[in-house]
Amino acid sequence: MESKGILAIHTGNGKGKTTAALGLAFRALGHGQKVAIVQFIKGRKSTGENKLADQFPQLLEFHVTGRGFTWNSADPSQDIARAREAWELAQSIITEGTVNLLVLDELTYLVKYKMVAEEEILQALEKRPPHMHVVITGRDASERLIANADLVTEMKDIKHPYRQGISAQQGFDY
Ligand code: ATP
Ligand code: MG
Repeated sequence: MESKGILAIHTGNGKGKTTAALGLAFRALGHGQKVAIVQFIKGRKSTGENKLADQFPQLLEFHVTGRGFTWNSADPSQDIARAREAWELAQSIITEGTVNLLVLDELTYLVKYKMVAEEEILQALEKRPPHMHVVITGRDASERLIANADLVTEMKDIKHPYRQGISAQQGFDY
């Protein structure tokens, strides 16, 4: 058996993709490992995880890059430029090679909406250093991303409180 940097994908329509990635970050940090999180799409202004990371800037790198992201905005070139910027940040973290775990939260949408070339993403991931685990989250992971990953988990939506009229709650959903 060998050890290597795992490329993991959390996909599917069920809740828990980002949550599970944060759990991995918690685990790695506990061992004194370096962690970076890049969030490509920002849904809410401040999540518990963002706020916690702000209190421990020396412990983990937390980048929220997708401010104002929309998929059908009046000016899609703006969104593409933002996606590219965010991707370049992620790429620089891979090239630098200092972190043990890199979370690319909601990266799948960059591929799905063709905001960054899939080939470019695959090549950068392929070149990651052997000690670096990468976790990608998001619905609709592409076939090629899945083919290139070592670990793929699909969150299956069986029940979600939203459908009972229960709204997203602080501390549980964000
Ligand atoms: P989480 O961040 O809670 O782990 P996720 O990363 O799996 O969720 P996303 O696709 O990123 O899911 O969606 C984020 C938001 O949408 C969260 O507030 C989450 O509660 C909500 N959500 C996720 N899955 C569902 C679902 N199946 N039905 C309704 N809302 C959902
Ligand atoms: Mg998510």
